[in-house]
Amino acid sequence: MRAFRMHDWLTEPVLTEVDVPEPGPGQVLVRIGGAGVCHSDLHVFREFEPGRMPWRLPFTLGHENAGWVESVGAGVTGLDPGMPVAVYGPWGCGACDRCLRGVETYCERPRDAPVPLGGAGLGLDGGMADYLLVPHARHVVPLPDGLDPVTAAPLTDAGLTPYHAVRRSWSKLTATATAVIIGVGGLGHLAVQVVKATTAARVVAVDTRPEALELARRLGADVTLRPGDGVAEVVRDETRGRGADVVVDCVGNDETLALAASVARVLGDLTIVGLGGGRLPVSFFAMPFELSVQTTYWGSRPELVEVLALASRGLLHTEVTRFSLDDVAQAYRRLEEGTLTGRAVVTP
Ligand code: NAD
Ligand code: ZN
Ligand code: ZN
Repeated sequence: MRAFRMHDWLTEPVLTEVDVPEPGPGQVLVRIGGAGVCHSDLHVFREFEPGRMPWRLPFTLGHENAGWVESVGAGVTGLDPGMPVAVYGPWGCGACDRCLRGVETYCERPRDAPVPLGGAGLGLDGGMADYLLVPHARHVVPLPDGLDPVTAAPLTDAGLTPYHAVRRSWSKLTATATAVIIGVGGLGHLAVQVVKATTAARVVAVDTRPEALELARRLGADVTLRPGDGVAEVVRDETRGRGADVVVDCVGNDETLALAASVARVLGDLTIVGLGGGRLPVSFFAMPFELSVQTTYWGSRPELVEVLALASRGLLHTEVTRFSLDDVAQAYRRLEEGTLTGRAVVTP
């Protein structure tokens, strides 16, 4: 089968031929219907120095995956060949307190996990291939009615990550609240919708690209702004001088973090999701009082079930540009150039 593999750090991945894996006991082989093209992959193969992650090479990229059950190993029940499924990508030990609650992103025994601090396409073979071997059936989530693997694939990360980030701020997203989403790409276009679908807060979306802002408007953002448009002043006007209750930064560079802190409200939340490498200076007068700042990584399995349910009820729309597996390198180039809106999905 074809697989888009990372053979070395700081090197372009290549499409190669590898054997179709066989599912062992408890494992599931998924025929890939869609694999999302995430900006994190660009960070992984362009920026991560050797030794940064405890992962062995080579491995196949692709951590946003959905498809159909192809075959199951001994002892797997409830998953039949042909069933449409999404794959929960963070693969922990399955037995620690966090994993037992479905929060495998923060596995407390990473040495007992199939790969430390990773999962599908992050240290272990992922879904940029014809087939994906899922090491444990618990990571395979049947798709609810009305969802197909191409639109479901981005929900497993571009949907799940902002859902987790927004969900932990739900109590602050009241009917009088405002959320600011910075960066309306793969993650951000779903972040806007997660706020609209699950809270009564208003949404201000910020992006450098007019086409991203146009998408944000179409998906329900109340106000859309470019960083140069006096964002802090507009947010203050929109909120009677109070500022944003919740800011989710899906870029995370110096510029966007400074913007995030400048629009946030006293007692608000500032959540850093983007891996843009920026820093946020913290000191007594540098930011609003009692602003909580946090980073979040991906989301939990129960949250993935909730995201899929929202999409199946028509409350989340994934804006998808399809690429064949043979054109996967082009999909990453387009992502890097910033000429995509929503999410690129590779459809083997
Ligand atoms: P993307 O390229 O699809 O979207 C990024 C968006 O940000 C684009 O629309 C771009 O125009 C916009 N942007 C860039 N610079 C900007 C600026 N200075 N001001 C405003 N907007 C700007 O990327 P994506 O796949 O959505 O990923 C976004 C970030 O989130 C990446 O850094 C990625 O690695 C990270 N990520 C984090 C997690 C996590 O678990 N924390 C999960 C997935 C992705
Ligand atoms: Zn990702
Ligand atoms: Zn664990």
